[in-house]
Amino acid sequence: MSSSSSNSRSSIKGSRRLDPKFEYVNCRCGISAPCWEAWRIGTLDPGRRFFGCSRYKDPNLSCNFFQWAEPPYTDRAREVIDELKRKLDVKSGEIQRVNEEFSFAEKKVILLNEELMISKKKNKEYEVLIVKMEKTIHWLKKLFVVVVLVMLVVFVLIM
Ligand SMILES: [Zn+2]
Repeated sequence: MSSSSSNSRSSIKGSRRLDPKFEYVNCRCGISAPCWEAWRIGTLDPGRRFFGCSRYKDPNLSCNFFQWAEPPYTDRAREVIDELKRKLDVKSGEIQRVNEEFSFAEKKVILLNEELMISKKKNKEYEVLIVKMEKTIHWLKKLFVVVVLVMLVVFVLIM
């Protein structure tokens, strides 16, 4: 097992397996080596196709077979890919910022809802208090009328 073969095995990780019709019957295991697309982070030529041992997940069974299925990308293609990556990074950053703002706004909504619930509860308490006060005022008005009547009667009797 050479160091280059162990590198090739790690390059399968994070890669995308293609349609089975691309399978290539030439693995050292004797089974067919599928065609993959290299999508591992840091890959020089993302999407470049290669054949790799299908048993790569098990280091004890894998023969570490690896073979590029197509030539490396041109410098121009790599330039374009790098530019697209930069643009994607900018957009990803923007999306992340928007997501952060959104989650901040969501937390604020939750806090405001809690405050609203507390206010509603307090409002109910005040309403109950107002009803009690109104009853008391009503009762006092009646008492006042009775007292005035009693005073009038007393006044008339005295005169
Ligand atoms: Zn193999």
